[in-house]
Amino acid sequence: MFELVNSYIDSLALFLAILFIQGMSFRKIRQYRPNWFQNGGRRLFLSILLGVYYGLAGIYFIYEGAYENNPVIYTNMRILILMVTSVFGGRAPLIFAYLVMLFGRISFDIASPVTSRYVILMTLIFAACLLVTFWKKQRFSRFVALIILNFPAILYYFVNNFDEGRILQGFEIIEYFLLFFVTALLVFYACNYIDKSNLVIQNLTETAMTDSLTNLPNMRFFTQQFGWIFAKSQKRKKSLSLFIIDIDHFKEINDFHGHQAGNTVLAQFSSILKNRTFPPRTMFARIGGEEFAVLLQNVGTEQAALIADFFREEVERAKFPYNPASGKVTVSIGVASASSNFSTTESLFEAADQALYQAKQNGRNQIAVHQGELE
Ligand code: GH3
Ligand code: MG
Ligand code: MG
Repeated sequence: MFELVNSYIDSLALFLAILFIQGMSFRKIRQYRPNWFQNGGRRLFLSILLGVYYGLAGIYFIYEGAYENNPVIYTNMRILILMVTSVFGGRAPLIFAYLVMLFGRISFDIASPVTSRYVILMTLIFAACLLVTFWKKQRFSRFVALIILNFPAILYYFVNNFDEGRILQGFEIIEYFLLFFVTALLVFYACNYIDKSNLVIQNLTETAMTDSLTNLPNMRFFTQQFGWIFAKSQKRKKSLSLFIIDIDHFKEINDFHGHQAGNTVLAQFSSILKNRTFPPRTMFARIGGEEFAVLLQNVGTEQAALIADFFREEVERAKFPYNPASGKVTVSIGVASASSNFSTTESLFEAADQALYQAKQNGRNQIAVHQGELE
């Protein structure tokens, strides 16, 4: 009995650690590489990574199950690995986890008759897990369905002479079923907890970095990204250009049509900015009341000036429900590119801001490029 409890606790602790490390890593990836979860190729890469990770964990449990005193416990854990991957990871990670575990088990000892029994067992479990990925239900429902669907597989395990051990009988079988049931619920609870808390953190981070009126990234996000992108392009000696865009006579819209009208214009302007195709990896943000920043990677001064002027024209052409007393909604844009003169984020920002001031001075609805040194 003590042995049973001991290996039970050992394996459960290990399982929870495996879950925790995965949750922690994915939280970091979400934080620093959020686009990996959207982009097709990288998403697949993450799925493979997840599948291989859980597959390797499965191999460990296979190994433990083969040499330790309580193979049943470790077999339970193996079933749970596939269940967790199916419910929390999805179809692609599940397939990879299964393949890795299969490969692990076979390369372990291909000739043994136990191997073929294990392959059947794992395939039965995999089939159930795969089936459940097509079921569009809550996670808990899917998990409970899997517990039930896996009963035949576990029964198959019990009635066969696995690992040259003795066959379980009567009350023992009920005991182990109960153990499997309790462990499964515990593992589900842990997974859900890790997943939910990651989601909460992600939502909080996103909220803290997003401007609520326009849904654009805010100044805090901009400052953070600007620092990273700037350092990266300095290191790789790539060009980097910055626009600061300011809506002309915006105060008049507020004064003539009210603050709400001003908000509508800001929201509409933001959707023009969002829908516009900029060069890849362009980042933009609302950095002040009616001020916006656009950071373009691998774009030099001349190209930046062209892009800025196209955008300015696009805004001029757009129909806004509220215009300032002076006519259309127009913008002035200050453009600056990183160079030996502007070798810090602060100096590049200052340069773009000075260029913006110049564009305003020159009569608005135009761009100005900062060429020289800071004033
Ligand atoms: P300029 O062409 O020189 O940029 O003139 P402007 O009127 O656009 O600039 P100014 O800085 O004088 O006015 C900006 C105004 O933007 C003042 C402020 O009340 C308004 N504002 C700032 N944030 C918001 C906002 O979130 N909503 C609305 N409706 N107005 C805002
Ligand atoms: Mg302004
Ligand atoms: Mg303005």
